Amino acid sequence: MPKRSPQQIAEQAHSRIAALRSELSALDYVCSGTLLERMKTCGSPACRCAHDPAARHGPYYEWGHMKAGKLLHRLVSAEQAVLLRRAIGNYRRLKKLLRSWEAETERLIDLSAARKR
Ligand SMILES: [Zn+2]
Repeated sequence: MPKRSPQQIAEQAHSRIAALRSELSALDYVCSGTLLERMKTCGSPACRCAHDPAARHGPYYEWGHMKAGKLLHRLVSAEQAVLLRRAIGNYRRLKKLLRSWEAETERLIDLSAARKR
C-alpha cells in the first residue's frame, strides 16, 4: 500500500468526522445509567408471592443513574422502560462516536503541527 500523503490523511479524517456528525444528528433520546427489571414480593404473608417465587409481582422497572454526583434509582412504567432502553443504547453509541471524533481531531492537530516543521 502506498504511503498516504498528509493531504489524504486530512481528507479522510474530515470525511470520517462528517460521517460521525451525521450519525450523531440521528440520535434523539439520550440517557445514561442502567435499567433493571425485577419481580417483587409485596410483604403480605397471606399473598402467594410470599412462598412462590413464580407468583411475585411485576415486572417493575428501575432506572439507576448518576445525577449531580449521586446515584439515583427511580421506578418507571413499562412504557417508559421502552424509551429508556432506546435512550441508554443511544447514550452508549454517543460516547463511542465522541471517542472516535476525538481521535480524528487529534490526528488533524498532529498533521497541522507536522506541516509547520
Ligand atoms: Zn404479594
